[in-house]
Amino acid sequence: MFDLTLKIALVTGASRGLGFAIAEGFAKQGAIVVLNGRDPQTLEKSAKHIRSNGGRAHIACFDVTDASAIKAAVAHIRDTIGEIDILVNNAGIQHRQLIADLPEADWRRVLDTNLTAPFLMAQAVAPSMVERKSGKIINICSLTSEVGRASVAPYTTAKGGLKMLTKSMAVEWAKDNVQVNGIGPGYFLTEMNTALVEDETFNNWVCNRTPAGRWGNPEELAGAAIFLASDASNYVNGQVIYVDGGFLSSM
Ligand code: NDP
Repeated sequence: MFDLTLKIALVTGASRGLGFAIAEGFAKQGAIVVLNGRDPQTLEKSAKHIRSNGGRAHIACFDVTDASAIKAAVAHIRDTIGEIDILVNNAGIQHRQLIADLPEADWRRVLDTNLTAPFLMAQAVAPSMVERKSGKIINICSLTSEVGRASVAPYTTAKGGLKMLTKSMAVEWAKDNVQVNGIGPGYFLTEMNTALVEDETFNNWVCNRTPAGRWGNPEELAGAAIFLASDASNYVNGQVIYVDGGFLSSM
């Protein structure tokens, strides 16, 4: 039910962090994974790590905010590896600043990467899934798809929008047997959060606020991603699964 043997999975932002952990989890289930990011050296190192553990991994270096680069990369993957069965829109960035001081360029940069890119990626990948009547798209959302937090307005706006984009895609493509779902991670130990982990006050807040009493480890996200990428979730559509140590369930 959870087998992904020879399924082709493109994971954006997979050179490190949660994207890498998801790609590694897919590879362990037999998938052929394609790791995306903007730095070819980091990507190759991460792909080598998966290969050294017996997995199948390729790299696709492009910027997910560049529509023509996306089209070219998806065509190249189709020609050299095969049609994409699973797309994970994971690439994301953060920018912390209060709304009153926030430059428009930073607002747009966060929206472009965290919201417009999943739209562009799905637009490039989904037609082949629709034609083949089979496909899985997983959008990496956030706790901020549900709740706000001071100093991260563009991120919250993008992730809230991504939750609704997930539902819109699910509704449009359900009849073609394409399932589109989201995963909302709680606080995970990745490079994006280095500054927060090193801030003692914030670190204590996360550990006290999260019922599990700790940060999540990236590999703990892979199970939900494997579920949503596999036949086990063929009638699950338009949902966001929160993998958050109980965060959103607690006051
Ligand atoms: P990291 O900063 O550790 O990794 C981000 C990844 O995205 C890197 O591989 C980076 O590679 C890539 N990336 C960034 N911008 C682009 C771009 N324009 N084009 C292609 N690749 C890009 O982040 P996390 O692993 O922590 O986060 C992954 C996702 O999970 C994000 O969407 C984030 O918002 C979400 N998330 C994370 C949480 C956490 O606690 N860590 C909590 C909730 C959600 P490179 O810079 O080399 O291009």
